[in-house]
Amino acid sequence: MFYTSTRDKSIKVTASQAIAQGISSEGGLFVPCEIPFFSQDKISSMIPMSYIQRAKTVLREFLTDFSDEELDYCVEGAYAAEKFSSSEIAPTVNISGNKNILELWHGPTCAFKDMALQLLPYLMTVSAKKTAGGKTIVILVATSGDTGKAALEGFKDVDNTKILVFYPVDGVSPMQKLQMTTQQGSNVSVCAINGNFDDAQNAVKSIFTDEQIKKELEKKNMMFSSANSINWGRLVPQIVYYFSSYCDMVKAGRIKNGDKINVVVPTGNFGNILAAYYARCMGLPVKKLVCASNANNVLTDFLKTGTYDKNRAFYTTTSPSMDILISSNLERLLYHMSGEKDTVVSQLMGKLSSEGRYTVSDDLIFEIQQLFDAGFASESSVDDTIKELFDDYGYLCDTHTAVAVKVYDEYVKSTGDDIPTVIDSTASPYKFSSSVLHAVLDGKVPELDEFDMVDELNRITGADIPSPISSLRDKSVRFSNVCNKNDMAQMVFKLLDL
Ligand SMILES: *Cc1c(COP(=O)(O)O)cnc(C)c1O
Repeated sequence: MFYTSTRDKSIKVTASQAIAQGISSEGGLFVPCEIPFFSQDKISSMIPMSYIQRAKTVLREFLTDFSDEELDYCVEGAYAAEKFSSSEIAPTVNISGNKNILELWHGPTCAFKDMALQLLPYLMTVSAKKTAGGKTIVILVATSGDTGKAALEGFKDVDNTKILVFYPVDGVSPMQKLQMTTQQGSNVSVCAINGNFDDAQNAVKSIFTDEQIKKELEKKNMMFSSANSINWGRLVPQIVYYFSSYCDMVKAGRIKNGDKINVVVPTGNFGNILAAYYARCMGLPVKKLVCASNANNVLTDFLKTGTYDKNRAFYTTTSPSMDILISSNLERLLYHMSGEKDTVVSQLMGKLSSEGRYTVSDDLIFEIQQLFDAGFASESSVDDTIKELFDDYGYLCDTHTAVAVKVYDEYVKSTGDDIPTVIDSTASPYKFSSSVLHAVLDGKVPELDEFDMVDELNRITGADIPSPISSLRDKSVRFSNVCNKNDMAQMVFKLLDL
């Protein structure tokens, strides 16, 4: 299996090259040249498997230059039982009728990013050994909150790696900020920037492709890579849980193997839903992929009209991990669904960076609409959804998950399509305690600090507090840097001692 670039089809690299490098040198994203197919029998054979076995079954198809021993080492290390608060790793919970919630937040940082970022450091170090000959890999991360922490936790003290994380100073929740600024590890740095997530992501992308910086790094025997979902090594682990959830639903008798399901994903950078798209291409019986956005609804507009336009107000919402106006992974979807037209993708991405908008052909948006539906949730409807789900079913969800639940309810209302559905739950409610408490108490929140909010939420709802959250209380802040978005390159020099 080889990988090519969304912007230049003449490129051909192995999985380990794609993972070690992160992004293609001309700025395109690595995509598989062909997508493996799982028959109904193959899916049937995965039903009795553990999560780890299912992960190996899927990954083996994509990471063909990894030996079985290497894959065993990576997957067993990443999903070791002691790192996850659920023995199923990613359990699917039935709420009522055909509504199921896939809980992706049982990992060490309580957000779905762990599903990929526990595995990525293993994939990356094995890949670097194969392709980069002993170089130190420098992971540069722009984060809207959850990626940063999950990457720090995944890469901390991993030999031959360093990790630098940039986050928007006012764009993450207090708990997310504390999780990052208290990070342990000898190879980690964290810096806030004056700007939003898109500013951070753009600066990181340009640092990646800056020739002068690259040269300086080479002198020190270092190379950059990315832990953002532009890295193929982030996406491929996410395909696994869609198969796993499907198998669990068959096992629980909620569907029969072969039955179609819908999948609803609270979306930001379009990585998670793209993984569901890959699963569908691989033969997982998925009817519709429903893309749920918050007030930053650039994707809803795109999927409804074919015009992507980031020239719009940016809102800071209670679901900060989805406060994004440039969804990087959409580029991969455009590549696949346009019939692998790299020149078309290059043109569209060129327009996005020069004018901030582009329109795809009628044919292309028509094709995309056959697979994707989309909607967005207002801030007040997110609160109402959290409260309703808790009051009616005793199920406590976070703000991001609530966006998806709300969009799903609207989807069913407008289409009548209520086949069995998996809704991704992407964070523990305790990661966003004050927003969740606000919703559950109908806005009547007492004045409390972040940790008292956690306790209060626990007292009112009885939902278990994940230990990575409760243990934060005793940790001290290690990183308090703030820099301007234009000074990020300089900061990288300083932090790496270049
Ligand atoms: C990252 C994140 C999302 C968005 O996922 P994408 O893959 O970027 O679309 C949604 N919810 C939470 C809690 C996240 O951390």
